[in-house]
Formats: sequence, structure tokens, C-alpha cells
Amino acid sequence: MQSHAPQNTHSTCPYCGVGCGVVSNKGSATIAGDLLHPANFGRLCVKGTALAETLNTQGRLLQPVVDGMPADWPLALTTAASRLQKIIVEHGPGSVAMYLSGQLLTEDYYVANKLLKGFIGSSHLDTNSRLCMASTVAGHKRAFGEDVVPGCYEDLELADLTVLVGSNLAWAHPVLFQRLLAAKAVSPDKKIVVIDPRRTATAESADLFLPIRPGTDVAMFSGLLAYLARQGQLDTDFTEQHCTGLTQTLEAAQCWLNIAQLADYCDVPVSDLTTFFQWFGATARTVTVFSQGINQAANGTDKVNAIINVHLATGRIGKPGACPLSVTGQPNAMGGREVGALANQLAGHLRFPSELTGIDETPDAEWQALRQFWRAPDLVQQGGYTAVDLFAAIGRGEIKAVWIMATNPVVSMPQADLVKQALQRCELVLVSDIYQDSDTVAQADIVFPALGFAEKDGTVTNSERRISRQRAFLPAPGEARADWQIVCDVAKALGFAHGFNYQNPAQIFREHAALTTLCNNGRRALDLTACRAMSDAAYDAWQPQQWPLPQVGYDSARLFANGQFYTADRKAKLVPLSGLEVLPRQGGDFVLNSGRIRDQWHTMTRTGRVPALMQHQSEPFVAMHPNDARRYQLKDGDLVELSNALGIFRGRAQLTDAQRCGELFVPMHWSGQFGFLSRCDVLYDDSRDPISRQPAFKQGQVQLKKL
Ligand code: SF4
Repeated sequence: MQSHAPQNTHSTCPYCGVGCGVVSNKGSATIAGDLLHPANFGRLCVKGTALAETLNTQGRLLQPVVDGMPADWPLALTTAASRLQKIIVEHGPGSVAMYLSGQLLTEDYYVANKLLKGFIGSSHLDTNSRLCMASTVAGHKRAFGEDVVPGCYEDLELADLTVLVGSNLAWAHPVLFQRLLAAKAVSPDKKIVVIDPRRTATAESADLFLPIRPGTDVAMFSGLLAYLARQGQLDTDFTEQHCTGLTQTLEAAQCWLNIAQLADYCDVPVSDLTTFFQWFGATARTVTVFSQGINQAANGTDKVNAIINVHLATGRIGKPGACPLSVTGQPNAMGGREVGALANQLAGHLRFPSELTGIDETPDAEWQALRQFWRAPDLVQQGGYTAVDLFAAIGRGEIKAVWIMATNPVVSMPQADLVKQALQRCELVLVSDIYQDSDTVAQADIVFPALGFAEKDGTVTNSERRISRQRAFLPAPGEARADWQIVCDVAKALGFAHGFNYQNPAQIFREHAALTTLCNNGRRALDLTACRAMSDAAYDAWQPQQWPLPQVGYDSARLFANGQFYTADRKAKLVPLSGLEVLPRQGGDFVLNSGRIRDQWHTMTRTGRVPALMQHQSEPFVAMHPNDARRYQLKDGDLVELSNALGIFRGRAQLTDAQRCGELFVPMHWSGQFGFLSRCDVLYDDSRDPISRQPAFKQGQVQLKKL
């Protein structure tokens, strides 16, 4: 492989939301952890360690494809533009959609959002981040007035009690887990509580494990709130000055005050639940980490607010070692949120007029400012279809053209078979990707070859709001181009040259930074004033920094230390919650949970190519309790089939008492392309959280049979 960069190149791991710094040794495909990066200080997990093995060009898309035939860029771009234009003329701008990815860089995301929402005039732009942390976005906005993570990774090390709920940190965010365990090794009195239906690898390191019945998290945290109130352990000074909604929230939580009844409802031992409550009440420095087990539920937003309620009521926010901490799945899930890549967002955390109606005298001020800033005559005025609804609209022919970038929805969406059928029927499917053989590329009319991690330049934002650079250290393979470049090329072919004449990603980032200052004056946390006039050289030399960055050197490690939030009255909101669980709808003998395994990433398009990463789990499996296996006369390794009205999944039985009886766990990674009938997402219906619209991947229901 040719050297592209003569010096060591500092970049960022392209997998999970921890956002570890990596170093490429003098432009080679040798990759090590970056000792100076504040996310990982040199550590890497097994996926990051194996990054170098994903960098060969085998299977890569090296030139555009039009209608199944190799094509040059001019043909691909003019064909895409003319077909898009025809659809827009015949069916209106709302017949065009984009489906993006937390794998994209912020600059890629920014121009895609600008093109569709600002210039084509369609609001139907969503991202696979909808499947990842949309419930956290909604919960943050309800509580804080803005989608903002209050704390930072260091808080995990400073906390005396870390509560991990719906988070298998050991496998899904391993370097953060290493940091947590390292801090505990130095101070063994620090406690870890794990709340999860499965006894995961994370739970093995816990001082206390609560194997909660799925869907009862809101009740558990509401019960905790009621308990703390009765014990006189709320921070009433903080809530009186800086919060609203405490009285109503406590009233709603009263029904969970009886710990014995609550323990019965959550199906955990009453003594353990009491211990958890006592530890929480006695420990000022408490961090609650939550992830997909909270987000991917039909009541995910309520779960998020149940956690935040407790932190607000005890004043455990904005202080070292005390915060609710959402850990996102993807490397740039946060960056996408910053530039408005969810269907219900505008760029730069600017708000639609409907979000400010009744709050602001001029509710369209932010929308108008963005319209002028972009010189975008067709800027959308309201949100569009979120992921599940977007593919449903394709299926019924309402959306005629979709551009999918850096993601594989034929495997990863709920109702995955219906998504595949929808794309087969869609008039125009554009796909930007790096590999030839993904299930989604197979459905494309036009394929754009994109740059991969080692070839790209831009920024990503990790789970603690830290913006880091991805830097290219290998040359572009074949004719592959940067995603931002492809979007700008299509925009120009559509006649929108004035908005998309960027020379490099630095120019895009400066525009993004300038946009965050519009109508701001402290009204929004996302403020990159310090970056809006940054030179190309400064962008190249960027060191990882957290936002907000109103000026150079600003300390943004923790927010809300001053008790000022981003709501209209600058107070945080506690949200009254019912706590009643939301049950899955399909019907079946087992509750189906799905998630990551240690060594794979998403739909295995990259990690599936690394032999060493296949050794941990080489086949799709169905984890089940031995008592359930006995009922079906199954032994470890037997082939089983899960099914419901939507589809089937096959895998090998994996017997483990880490599972609760009546509940199954399957990996989310496998697809059709490796010869397995193991796309677990075909089994999930369109159950979603009513606020965040995030699918409920933890709450399926299936039948089981032995093959
Ligand atoms: Fe990459 Fe996440 Fe592993 Fe860090 S923890 S090396 S970001 S996969």
C-alpha cells in the first residue's frame, strides 16, 4: 500500500461513539492508539486494534455504477441529476429523501442536509442515528431545552458510584469500560451497579447486578426518585432555583414508593433494589450511563427522562463525577445531530418555527436566519419523515427517489424485508458506499464510490461532545471521492453551484461553525464561534476539543454548573412519567432482544472481513436460558429458527444462564450476504417511541423451533 502521508497521522477510530484517537505510522496501514487523545490516552479495543486489517482495497467500489454498469463520474453525476430533476418536476421536492449515517463526517452530513432541506426543499432526511440515540435527543430536549450531553468521560473516573443501565459498556464501548475499571482498580471503594435484563460482560464486573424485567426501567427510576424524596435526599435548593416540574413528577412517582412491590414489578430481588437505592442516596458523585437498552424501546424517551429526573432532583449534574451520561453508538452520531441530520432538526441546533411558537415573539427568526445564511430559497419549514416512516413512504410510492449514504438499511432497519421490497420498487435509489457487496448496494440504480476511514478528511464528535479530526493517510482507491464532494458534485449538476462551491472540508466546517452563532447569544449550547474564522492550517492542526467553544480555550468539560439550562425560562424540566411498560405487539413465546457482540461493527461490511474478529463469534446465535432450551429439547450448538409474522432468523442455540427465562438475545450484525438467513431486524415491527420515533429493537416477540 502506497504511503500518502510522510508523517505520523493522527485520526479517529471510525467505529463506536467513544471516538478513540488513532495514529497511522508514517502513512502506512499500521495503526496504534493515540497516547495524547483525551478519549482513550492510547488505549484501543479489539476492533480498533484490527483497523489496519480493514484497509486493503479488496471488495471496494472503485468507480461509479449506473444501472449495473461501470460508469465514469460525469455520466454518473449527470444521470443522477437528470433523474432527480425529473422526479422533482413530476412529483414535487417532497418525493425525494436521504437516509444518512453516523459513519459520515460532520462535513459530509452538513452539505447533504443543506442540499436536501435547503435547496431541493424536502424535509425527508433522516439517519441511522434514529436507530441509535433519537430517544436521548428527545429526552435531552425535554429536560434541558437542547440536545446536549452534560458531562464528560472523566466523570466516569471521578464518580464514586457508576450506574450502567441498558449499556453493555464492556463490549459496545470497551475503552470507556477500561477507563472505568482502571479508576476502580486505583480506588476499590468505587461501586458499579449494572441494570440489564442480561448478565452481560459488563455485569460480571459489577458490585451489584439487577437483572431487570425488560421495559420496567421507568418504574425503577421513578421508584428511586420517590425513595430519595422520602429519605429527604433531594437537593431542594437546586430544584427550587433551577428546575420546574418536581412536584408533579414526585406525584407521578408515588405509585412506585413501595420497594417490595416495585421489586416484584421489575422482577429483581427486593434486597438488591434496596441496596441500589441506598447507594444512590448516599453517593453524591454518581454517574448514570445509558445506551441502546434505554434508547431502543417503545418508551425510550420516558426512560431517558426517568434517569435525568433523578439527577436533576438530586442536583447531580454539572459537577465533577455527577451526571447522566448518554453513550452513543456511532463515531459521529453527535456530529450529525449538530448539523441537523435528523428529520425533525434544522442545522446548527436552530429550531423550526413550530418549536418556538408560544416561546418566542418571532418564532421564525432562526429559520429566517438560516434561510438567509444559506441563500436557500426552498428551506423547509417543518420536519419530515423519520426512518421507519421514510421507508414506509418509499414502499407506498410517495417517495420516488432516495439517496442512501454509508449505511445498510436492508439489514439494519426494522421490517428489513419490507425495506428491501420498498427499495426494489423505488424509482431511483442512489447509494454512496465503500464496498460493492452490501445488501443495500445491491438495490441501487446508481452507486457512488466513497472514501473510507483511512482516506477521508473531516471531523467527528464523540459522546462527550469532543470534536476530533479524521485525517487521510492513504490515497483514494480508484476513483472514489469524499462523500461531501459527491454531494456537492450532484448539487452543482442540479444547478445549485452557488451553495456548494467548497474547496475543502475546512471551508465546510467554518461555515458550520459560523451557522452555530446565528441568533444565539447564549440561547443554544452548540456554539462554535471560536472556529468560524479558523484557517485551513488551524483546521489541519486541530486538537480534540469539546463544544461549546465560544472562544479559544473555553472549558466545556461540564455544562449546567451555573444552573442555567436552554429552556425558555432557563430552568431544567423534570418530566412526570407513568412508568407503565410498553409491551411488544407481534405476539410470540419469547421476548427478543438484539444488540452488538464484542468484535463486530454494524452489519459487518468491514469487521466481517477480518479473520481475527470472526473468531470471537463466527456464526449468528440465539442466546437462551438452559431451562428454555430443555423445553425445546435443545442443546448448545443446535440450529434454531426464530419467526413471527414478519420473517425468520436462523442461528445456533447458545445456552447461558446469563439470559432470563423467556427472553432471547441475538446479534444484530449478520446479513444475507454471508449465506446466513440471519438478518434479525426482519423480526421487528414498526413499534416506535411516540416522541423520538426510535424503533424498539429490545422488545420483539418471536416463536422458536428446533431445525
Ligand atoms: Fe474504536 Fe470504540 Fe474501540 Fe475506541 S472503543 S477503539 S472508538 S471501537
